[in-house]
Amino acid sequence: MKMQDKVAVVTGAASGIGKEIAIVFAREGAKIVIADLNQAGADATALELGGPGKAIGVAMDVTDEAQVEAGIAKAIAAFGRIDVLVSNAGIQTVAPLDEFPFAKWKQLLAIHLDGAFLTTKAVLRHMYTRPGGGSIIYMGSVHSKEASPLKAPYVTAKHGLIGLAKVVAKEGAKHGVRANVICPGFVRTPLVEKQIPEQAKELGISEADVVKNVMLRETVDGEFTTVEDVAETALFFASFGSNALTGQSMVVSHGWFMQ
Ligand code: NAD
Repeated sequence: MKMQDKVAVVTGAASGIGKEIAIVFAREGAKIVIADLNQAGADATALELGGPGKAIGVAMDVTDEAQVEAGIAKAIAAFGRIDVLVSNAGIQTVAPLDEFPFAKWKQLLAIHLDGAFLTTKAVLRHMYTRPGGGSIIYMGSVHSKEASPLKAPYVTAKHGLIGLAKVVAKEGAKHGVRANVICPGFVRTPLVEKQIPEQAKELGISEADVVKNVMLRETVDGEFTTVEDVAETALFFASFGSNALTGQSMVVSHGWFMQ
């Protein structure tokens, strides 16, 4: 049990990658707060993990400061502490830059960057007031390192998270707080399922071609990364035994991007 008696808040954990991280952390003994816009989904995941005493769902729009503050307060009230934050909530919107609606640009940056900032700020204030430090993990992407057409705000936001993690690593060090970024390749979650027909339309190719020749083309083996691959990487960062591992980003992408 690598996370016995630890408490983790995972945003966007009603679905996909965040949900699997919650499952793996719970398997390793952590108590989990599932913070998601989708309250019904958050509550359902919390029940799957054993319900009150083991996991709770918290309604939270990560772009809303009041909701973030209230959700973090609920987490501390329920479990007494927070040791790990996984800032994972995210969306994707694809369009060429010259047609990208400004409102969609702002919405994407708000969820990925404002969400990471607001949850970090709320959790740091708690972590700084008690011994033991903490671990903050941002869900980046290969798009934290690399660009693709049609994804301007996503690539911009995911690059930005690496900058945020480095600042948290520097400011948090004296309080024992570490910060790192996971950079997955394509994972078949609802976020990606939605993109396949959208990209097929934008690029004028078949959905099979989007998967083979756009999404997985640069991998070494034509394989999707899985939610389990990403969750095990999150466990590695969350349970690492010292403050040596901070300000880093790790790419998990079947070799799509090599550092
Ligand atoms: P998903 O759509 O399965 O899950 C995203 C979750 O975030 C949902 O439960 C949704 O309700 C929640 N969410 C959305 N907006 C929110 C908000 N404002 N406040 C709180 N919760 C909100 O997506 P996923 O594929 O599991 O993606 C999770 C993260 O992983 C995202 O940051 C995404 O960019 C990143 N990522 C995904 C892939 C991939 O291929 N799926 C690859 C690299 C990185």
